[in-house]
Amino acid sequence: MKIYDAYKYCLLCGGEVVGESNVRKCNSCGKTRFINPSPATGAIIIKDNKFLLTKRAHEPAKGTWDIPGGFVEPGETFEQSITREIFEEMGVKATKIKYFNSKFDHYEYEGVMDDIIVINFLVEVDSFDFKPDDDITETKFFGMEEVPYEEIKFPSVSNTIREYFNQHQS
Ligand SMILES: [Zn+2]
Repeated sequence: MKIYDAYKYCLLCGGEVVGESNVRKCNSCGKTRFINPSPATGAIIIKDNKFLLTKRAHEPAKGTWDIPGGFVEPGETFEQSITREIFEEMGVKATKIKYFNSKFDHYEYEGVMDDIIVINFLVEVDSFDFKPDDDITETKFFGMEEVPYEEIKFPSVSNTIREYFNQHQS
């Protein structure tokens, strides 16, 4: 179920809401809410022209390949978000962060599908001696011809990998 269909009642008064697209207006109190995409970040970490992928330990998309990253938390910038995620997920410090692209995608959690907007950064790290947290079961660098696209769930990730290698063919 999409988040727009799940949103049936007003956050303020509990009245029923009506609306189209991402706009919902309450029939009781008349207030309007906008259901905006959730901001997220992703990290492109490269070693010897190989692309780092991480295998997801949990749903959604459990067992598929992904890149490090996650949702932006309240009060964070995108840069702070990816720096925090890299440290939490991989146990290393980001030493340089550079914008690469942004991608629209969907993220289903406990039966509700959110729209997300992902900012991907090229990230340099202080070490490749990763200490993955329990969100990740495996980490591996893949060359351009080795990327297991059929084992990647999110189009935002596979399209970002393709874009990277299109720009960095050796
Ligand atoms: Zn209301």
